[in-house]
Amino acid sequence: MSNDEKLKNFIRNFIDIDLEQKRYGFVMTRFPPEPNGYLHIGHAKSVCLNFGLAAEYGGRCNMRFDDTNPVKEDLEYVESILNDVKWLGFDWQDRLYYASDYFDQLYECAEKLILSGQAYVCDLPPDKVREYRGTLTKKGIDSPYRERSPQESLDLFRRMRAGEFEEGEKFLRAKIDMASPNLNMRDPALYRIKKAAHHRTGDKWLIYPMYDYTHCLSDAIEGVSHSICTLEFEDHRPLYDWVLEKLDWPEPRPRQIEFARLNLEYTLMSKRKLLELVKENHVRGWDDPRLPTLAALRSRGLTPSSIRLFCERIGVAKKDSWIEMDWLDKAVRDDLNSQVKRVMAVLDPLKVVIENWPEGQEKALPAPFFPDEPEKMGYREVSLTREIFIERDDFRLEPDQDFFRLAPGREARLRWGGFIHCHEVVTDESGQICELRATLSERSRGLNPNGKRPAIIHWLSAKNSLPATVRLYDRLFLKPKPTGHLEEELNPDSLIERRQARLELSLAEAQPGQRFQFERLGYFMKISEKDGQKPIFNRIVSLKDGWAKMAKNR
Ligand code: ATP
Ligand code: MG
Repeated sequence: MSNDEKLKNFIRNFIDIDLEQKRYGFVMTRFPPEPNGYLHIGHAKSVCLNFGLAAEYGGRCNMRFDDTNPVKEDLEYVESILNDVKWLGFDWQDRLYYASDYFDQLYECAEKLILSGQAYVCDLPPDKVREYRGTLTKKGIDSPYRERSPQESLDLFRRMRAGEFEEGEKFLRAKIDMASPNLNMRDPALYRIKKAAHHRTGDKWLIYPMYDYTHCLSDAIEGVSHSICTLEFEDHRPLYDWVLEKLDWPEPRPRQIEFARLNLEYTLMSKRKLLELVKENHVRGWDDPRLPTLAALRSRGLTPSSIRLFCERIGVAKKDSWIEMDWLDKAVRDDLNSQVKRVMAVLDPLKVVIENWPEGQEKALPAPFFPDEPEKMGYREVSLTREIFIERDDFRLEPDQDFFRLAPGREARLRWGGFIHCHEVVTDESGQICELRATLSERSRGLNPNGKRPAIIHWLSAKNSLPATVRLYDRLFLKPKPTGHLEEELNPDSLIERRQARLELSLAEAQPGQRFQFERLGYFMKISEKDGQKPIFNRIVSLKDGWAKMAKNR
């Protein structure tokens, strides 16, 4: 096995060893989002890992909201998160939990820690707490309240709960080691006073447990075997284990395993930045197809299976890195490739008049929806008429070396039709090309003057085609590794609307949510929104060309 494969499997290795040594009877994981934003593709990686591993080992995965912070949470987020996890294809059955469900138990555990001398109430104000904490190079200093008797701390803790003190006046902290090289172990806070109502527990609590304290206990209460989290919690693991150990939590205790979070090039996943993009109207909302949120990817047209495929392919690593957007694009293409019909659309139409084709004459050309296996999806007919549209970009007045498509004096092959030879270019007053004149023949005249065989281009009858609006999405940021300076880094062309686009007639019956490959252009989905009378299609992903080439060809 190569090193890479080993890395990909390091979580499985842990699980295998634990099962082998009978540390656990079966695998129990959880997905623990904080309900303070929409899920993004990074979260999808965690969802796929947690639910995926549980499924793989015949275990279970809980859905748990980490709702310890009463002020930041919102019902809208809870609903969207549940919806997104379901959409991704995962099922927590009846195991939907909230950390706030455990507040009573957490409180009892805190009293237990106080009584056994493992925790104390501290009266230091926040600035002193910071000062006493020390730094990576400087040891911390013991709080003057550290040696308070358990009885006194217990009394104060109960009075904190009863609301006798103000926020910041007192807090409960673990009694570990102010000289620890790990700052998380320097008597970390366990509970703080927060006089805020909670969306689930209402006014019941005036003190709230801290994340680190809550997380390990929630895992333990639920019988989680493997608590999979991102790398920034590696330094918190000693505290995770400490709490359970000092509470004498029965074995087997959950094992925390960290993996590198997903960073995707040309986008950002910080919730704060995403919120800023939405709030400042840089995008149209949480589901704007340019965002990396799952709601956005769904509205863009990505399938849940393509996201699962992407997460599986990128694997898990122990070191932070950036993943190229091409990985996601490729997973989307690979997923859609065998599922969708191939049809023709012209996004930026240029009219071609076929001079040797009689006015009014129409010919129906049979065309398979899935050319690689024509019988798989059947046939439709495309209509050939005297006036057709081709893609403006498939014509060059002065073609350079590597341009092989239509140009004056050159020939191109119409997909499913014959060969057109361009012999005249009509321009308007501004010099813009507005029409080509061509002749059509069944057979090619042979090689073009550049020595190449005529290229195949897509096209549509001018008369027998449908007007449509097509939205082309590009990267949201110009830089592969954006830092979040929106003014300089946002791509001004991240959305281009083709409002003059044309579609073949077979698309008249397309339903919102239906996906197609527009030949040579990419994969597209019809959306439910309309542009006046016109249907709108989103481009989900371009074809193999990659972003750069598509951008050039727009
Ligand atoms: P916050 O900064 O608000 O904590 P978060 O992105 O960590 O944001 P959570 O709601 O705490 O959000 O995340 C839920 C789970 O998803 C956590 O287990 C977290 O580790 C994981 N997760 C979050 N972002 C990523 C990412 N980019 N890649 C992989 N996993 C992630
Ligand atoms: Mg978090």
